[in-house]
Amino acid sequence: MTTQRSYRIATIPGDGIGKEVIPVGQRAAEAAARRHGFRLGWSEFDWSCERYAKTGRMMPEDGAAQVKGHDAIYLGAVGFPNVPDHVSLWGLLIPLRRELDLYANVRPVRLMRGVASPLTGRGPADIDFVVVRENVEGEYSEIGGRLYHGTDQETASQLAVFTRRGVDRIMDYAFQLAQTRRGHVTSATKSNGIVHTMPFWDERFAAAKARHPGVKTAQFHIDILTAHFVLHPDWFDVVVGSNLFGDILSDLGPAVAGSIGIAPSANLNPERNFPSMFEPVHGSAPDIAGQGIANPVAAVWAAAMMLDHLGEAEAARTLEAAIETSLERPETRTRDLGGTADTAGAERAIIAAIG
Ligand code: ATP
Repeated sequence: MTTQRSYRIATIPGDGIGKEVIPVGQRAAEAAARRHGFRLGWSEFDWSCERYAKTGRMMPEDGAAQVKGHDAIYLGAVGFPNVPDHVSLWGLLIPLRRELDLYANVRPVRLMRGVASPLTGRGPADIDFVVVRENVEGEYSEIGGRLYHGTDQETASQLAVFTRRGVDRIMDYAFQLAQTRRGHVTSATKSNGIVHTMPFWDERFAAAKARHPGVKTAQFHIDILTAHFVLHPDWFDVVVGSNLFGDILSDLGPAVAGSIGIAPSANLNPERNFPSMFEPVHGSAPDIAGQGIANPVAAVWAAAMMLDHLGEAEAARTLEAAIETSLERPETRTRDLGGTADTAGAERAIIAAIG
């Protein structure tokens, strides 16, 4: 007897347009699952800034434990104008990333057919790379403090933390990913100005290169690397960066590929000790929330990354192809991409293309 493959997903739609695009991603993933013969079960969590306003917490204290038993987490966006960003970040995203050891933040940057890049003269063949960001240590640490508040001696210091284990594992992830793509890794560094952690980062990059002899490499200081993203996006295949540099690059990357409304992101625990988390790059977009015009493509693409991670690569390719088909015509693209469709219209085109 064969049992049907099935997966349990924890969904956290969050705030604003997160609540509009996550249901679209769920329906698209369901359609792909039907076509490829597996099942998806969803449990929904109301963790959000809205919940924070009511209860004083973004999620319950044992939030990470509540989602641990699932196969993956599918997140919309958290953020609300009168809730400071650090509350949503430190109350939900960072605890989940750390408690579930989601150490690899992965953002594919691909110029899809039908989408215009802000870079003149660039087409789909020129922009196809992945930014791999270290997601749990580095510059984003709580170690530090402030002295002499409010005086002219006021002092602030913050310690960046780079461990050999933490750096080696993100490097290995990037090199292994490159082996499945065009075999090239670029490292983002700043070892001329940051004289302890970044030379260490460079040494560990060299060690990773020695462990993966088939992979070609390049390394640039972060300042010139940002210029190369704009001037030569075709140079890149996999780009690996520390928490801060990766954060910056992983917003710049999607910007050169057209619109924040299409870019997806994965927070991975590659060893699969814990469920990985998949989300659109965009935030809650309060300016357009509730109008039914949000672009659902980033959420659908994030669902494709989730299916890929769950081992359903064919279903992931089906979703990606459906996205690309929906982006080809202005009638089925949303307004942020110069189209005329609303969220529901874009969804219809995606679901129809899944077949
Ligand atoms: P947050 O505080 O949650 O990060 P934000 O509004 O500051 O939200 P984003 O939501 O990431 O930041 O996006 C900035 C702008 O880009 C939005 O205000 C919105 O106009 C536009 N935008 C973002 N996502 C989408 C989308 N899916 N569809 C259409 N427009 C979008």
